[in-house]
Amino acid sequence: MQLHNFNSGPSILPQEVLEQAAASIHNFNHTGLSILEIGHRTSWFVDVVTEAQQTIKRLMGLGDDYEVLFLQGGATMQFMQVPMNLLDENGLAAICDNGVWGNKAVKEASIFGPVKVVSDTSNQKHTYLNKQLEIPANATYLHITTNNTVEGTQWHQYPQTNALLVGDMSSDIFCRPTAFEKFDLIYAGAQKNMGAAGVTIVVVKKEILGKVNRKIPAILDYQKHIEAGSLLNTPPVFSIYVSLLTLRWIEQQGGLVEMGKRNQEKANLLYHTIDSTPTFYCPIAVEDRSIMNAVFFLTNPEHEAPFLELCKKHGMIGVKGYRTVGGIRVSMYNALPLSSVQAFCDLMKQFAASHA
Ligand SMILES: *Cc1c(COP(=O)(O)O)cnc(C)c1O
Repeated sequence: MQLHNFNSGPSILPQEVLEQAAASIHNFNHTGLSILEIGHRTSWFVDVVTEAQQTIKRLMGLGDDYEVLFLQGGATMQFMQVPMNLLDENGLAAICDNGVWGNKAVKEASIFGPVKVVSDTSNQKHTYLNKQLEIPANATYLHITTNNTVEGTQWHQYPQTNALLVGDMSSDIFCRPTAFEKFDLIYAGAQKNMGAAGVTIVVVKKEILGKVNRKIPAILDYQKHIEAGSLLNTPPVFSIYVSLLTLRWIEQQGGLVEMGKRNQEKANLLYHTIDSTPTFYCPIAVEDRSIMNAVFFLTNPEHEAPFLELCKKHGMIGVKGYRTVGGIRVSMYNALPLSSVQAFCDLMKQFAASHA
């Protein structure tokens, strides 16, 4: 049976990337050694890091005022590393709490300095984005989660602010042309849209660093990582390599314009099927719907279990909603083909025909 991988993360990767990654485990770049056996300070691996950094900057259209780092600890570590490097008692972090991940960013930042939640959409179960933000004039930075992976909302236009702008782009990085230049710091765990678990990319504007009054342990200090060329200690060599392969794939396919075209087409097909099939409904405000993670429900909650059973029987992987949200979540990252969304929509219609 053909499987359709709608996992929310770690998630589907392009077949070519998997084949190249597999080959590199036996013989990396004709070196006769496995990628798992080479030193991280060899020119072989330094070339991998350099190419990955350059490709990220090219895709983002950013210049030398930004640095690209490959860190560990997941996006979750960035919830604390960002405020540790940018926020102190004299500053203020303005944060949008639009779901599970934004909420964690709030909690971790408040360990390091004052925090103001400038958007809290929990009163409507995070089914929309509040775009009328009142950002205090003294805010050091505004933090947004550009795509709310769990709740199924996505910022389609970024808020204006005089503060620094920080974005958690873990689940929509490189999904389409993006105004990356509006951000002073971007972070993303690789395992959703750009590689395998184990590495987090951080893209930071250099001039914003070094302004807080606190000692920062070297391993958590962005400046120390920059000085060391992202090789402060042993990085996750294999994960970085898989990200490089994925980044090359994005460029070969036609870059972010092509990714955006494909992702919009997939999302249009799925949301149209939901909206035109009364057996299903999507509570997310139409203008805020995510093109990466579609969250929706069965109109009759008793139909959820049999629908999930049918999905399982037809090889639809990872479509059960997040444990605190329930319902269905279909993740449509870059590597997911339109044919998988088509197969899923056909199954929805088949189910609806027998469960009106
Ligand atoms: C998955 C996810 C995280 C957490 O990532 P980890 O790598 O597991 O720490 C944070 N933010 C967003 C938006 C996510 O989708």
